[in-house]
Amino acid sequence: MIKEESIEKIIDESQQGSALALENNTKNTRKLYIESYGCQMNFSDSEIVASILAKEGFNTTQILEEADLVLVNTCSIREKAELTVRKRLEKFNAVKKTNPSMKVGVLGCMAERLKSKFLEEEKIVDMVVGPDAYKDLPNLIQEIDEGRNAVNVILSKDETYGDVAPVRLNTNGVSAFVSITRGCDNMCTFCVVPFTRGRERSRDPQSILQEVNDLWEKGFKEITLLGQNVDSYLWYGGGLKKDYEKASDMQKATSVNFAKLLELVAEAQPKMRIRFSTSNPQDMTLDVIESMAKYDNICKYIHLPVQSGSNRILKAMNRLHTREEYFELIDNIKKIIPDCAISQDMITGFPTETEEDHQDTLSLMEYVKYDFGFMFAYSERPGTLAERKMDDDVPEETKKRRLTEIIDIQQKHSLYRTQEHVGKVEEVLIEGTSKRSDTHWMGRNSQNTVVIFPKETYKVGEFVNVKINECTSATLLGEAVGYSKNN
Ligand code: SAM
Repeated sequence: MIKEESIEKIIDESQQGSALALENNTKNTRKLYIESYGCQMNFSDSEIVASILAKEGFNTTQILEEADLVLVNTCSIREKAELTVRKRLEKFNAVKKTNPSMKVGVLGCMAERLKSKFLEEEKIVDMVVGPDAYKDLPNLIQEIDEGRNAVNVILSKDETYGDVAPVRLNTNGVSAFVSITRGCDNMCTFCVVPFTRGRERSRDPQSILQEVNDLWEKGFKEITLLGQNVDSYLWYGGGLKKDYEKASDMQKATSVNFAKLLELVAEAQPKMRIRFSTSNPQDMTLDVIESMAKYDNICKYIHLPVQSGSNRILKAMNRLHTREEYFELIDNIKKIIPDCAISQDMITGFPTETEEDHQDTLSLMEYVKYDFGFMFAYSERPGTLAERKMDDDVPEETKKRRLTEIIDIQQKHSLYRTQEHVGKVEEVLIEGTSKRSDTHWMGRNSQNTVVIFPKETYKVGEFVNVKINECTSATLLGEAVGYSKNN
């Protein structure tokens, strides 16, 4: 599985920009059309927004033309993501001409980045709402109903939406995402996230457990704990991670870190598969890897972005680890969990990147032999430290050529890794019908690799043991040999 440039990781490419819909409440009279772009946190946030608005009289619709309110949940991570949203706003503008009572709101990272500039520049926008202000939507909607533009882009110290039960939009009924942290404190010099999503804060573990238990009751079989940097999770009663130092001794003694949270979730639902994303190498500790090894239901897969294999570039990116420390972490993961799959994010053409730096990236990839990869050409983002302090000096053709080289090597490694599964019997959770064949199921093994096999009498949501017979670089092909003990 290799993705390029514009599509954010852990996201089903086909979902980008999809309009989300949920079961209608017959008492609701207004129609909401909500479209999401970017990372899975955005899709998860749209579920929170839909839940808040369901209580305000809105049912979701997938027909843009009939909407009373159109919301677009936006991404700022690369320039291309923002250009896509601007194109969509043009489309909404055209529809608005035939339906003048329709209101349009921009949510998420672009809203936070551009703030009221949106109202001034994009005249079709009525409302701008940042990622921490969704609970204010009922007031903001009242403002626009009364003919005024509305903006709330205040970032919060403690908002985690822990008390909002998200509705599940476009769900397969098998896998769901559960947010555990918001914001990011890492200040990687290329990244816009700390500016658009604010400082890092963690969600109350009790509300996480409640959501997981509720998902199990509803028949879900797999959850992914979500955050920009999940390993940095730290609950000490609420508040920003950076303020932990000021916490009382009691708060510190009863605090919950990510390894502990993983164990709490794994024990609360021993048959539920647990995944998590994203891990930052500088924050991933041995106790997390040990917790993964201890519980069968924690999947053996870590998404561990590195961005570059060059120490000089890692430093310029403010990634707070070296190449050697990263290798040590990889060695520890493989020692403690030999069959653990590892994936990467990589950026080519960061300012000042030389051919030698690029070769360091290729040799790092050769050492790790990642199972998957998500690779991007550097895109300068306004307001980041790299934009303020460094020239975007690597020519576009060079960025592209280096990107092609790392994609090619990843493809080779992906095949090397999928071949390791051939001949084995692996547990697969069935997610749905294969896109290529109505007579085959599609599911994933613990390592997050897609497995395709004949349907026989098995059903969606079942855990099945599958004998792996063949592979491509992205997919395993096999046949079921019976239910797994987890079923
Ligand atoms: N929090 C994670 C981390 O620290 O690794 C991921 C953050 S981001 C939402 C996902 C990926 O987008 C990053 O890992 C990086 O590879 C890529 N990315 C972020 N900013 C970028 C930029 N300015 N240009 C190109 N790619 C970028």
